[in-house]
Amino acid sequence: MQKEPIAWTEELRRAFRDPLALAEHLGIPLSSLPELPIEPDFPFLVPRPFVARMRPGDPSDPLLRQVWPDRREAIHLPHEMDDPVGDDHARKCAGVLQKYEGRVLLVTTGACALACRYCFRQNYGYEDTPHSDTDWDAIFEDLAGDTRLREAILSGGDPLTRTDSVIARWVARIEAIPHIETLRIHTRLPVAIPSRVTPDLCSILDATRLRIVVVVHINHSAEIDESFTNAMSRLRGCGATLMNQSVLLKDVNDTADQLESLSFALWRAGVLPYYLHALDPVRGSSRFRVPDHVGVELVDEIRRRLPGYLVPRLVREIMRKPSKTPLG
Ligand SMILES: *Cc1c(COP(=O)(O)O)cnc(C)c1O
Ligand code: SF4
Repeated sequence: MQKEPIAWTEELRRAFRDPLALAEHLGIPLSSLPELPIEPDFPFLVPRPFVARMRPGDPSDPLLRQVWPDRREAIHLPHEMDDPVGDDHARKCAGVLQKYEGRVLLVTTGACALACRYCFRQNYGYEDTPHSDTDWDAIFEDLAGDTRLREAILSGGDPLTRTDSVIARWVARIEAIPHIETLRIHTRLPVAIPSRVTPDLCSILDATRLRIVVVVHINHSAEIDESFTNAMSRLRGCGATLMNQSVLLKDVNDTADQLESLSFALWRAGVLPYYLHALDPVRGSSRFRVPDHVGVELVDEIRRRLPGYLVPRLVREIMRKPSKTPLG
């Protein structure tokens, strides 16, 4: 008999919240890891299914690098910002960002299942994220009044940290707006905790008239394993279109070989590469920075090696531009 997967909520409860415990679990001496910050401004959170894909004993593991806090986070370069992508400017009201025509992004929660050290929204003011049904009512009324909208994007934080019943309510209210055709979900949860793709979630997505796009966030081929692939099959089974966005990160995925492996691994899991984001200059992230010209050369190289549909678009998000900006 197949073993019942551990419920995702339980996985979240059992996640590592202390870097020392994670280092010990992986059998890596602290002396071989980057020094920890004295007062980290960003929490540590890594669920066990993600840890299971790290190589024990390897301080340069690319998954570990994405989550390991580092004293260099205290280095704030002059061009780095708390709000590197101009979210403040795009805020229509609490919880609603509109930067691009026809698409509105809902900041549904500040919570994530994984704390990525390079996260561009790590300083976002989540305090006023709408919570009650009444807060959300006002937002959905607003969307209903804007007939130029075609697509609503659930983002955050990670919308899939909310329960299936909350998601069912969001879907029902978006579905009730006739001009919205597409519901997009930006999430890293199926990567962090694949069992989050529950049968209930699939039923909700299967039943709606909305076209569903799920955009996951994977940076390295080692993040893709059988449990993730199975979660993607479940989502495909309910008709969702599956895509991935990555961030180009120094010493994680900044080689043509890794970007090529990542695209093929995504393809085998039924996911198409969508964006490769140049790192947003969020405060304290300089150790992850890859110069734009290197990004352009890497993508030129993988364009030679891969079918066009496996080449992600290298983009940078520049404040107040009407779309993400292609870099080459
Ligand atoms: C990135 C982003 C989108 C989606 O842009 P696409 O190019 O359609 O993927 C929408 N709204 C905001 C605020 C964004 O940052
Ligand atoms: S999952 Fe996304 S929003 Fe959450 S910490 Fe990682 S990059 Fe940031």
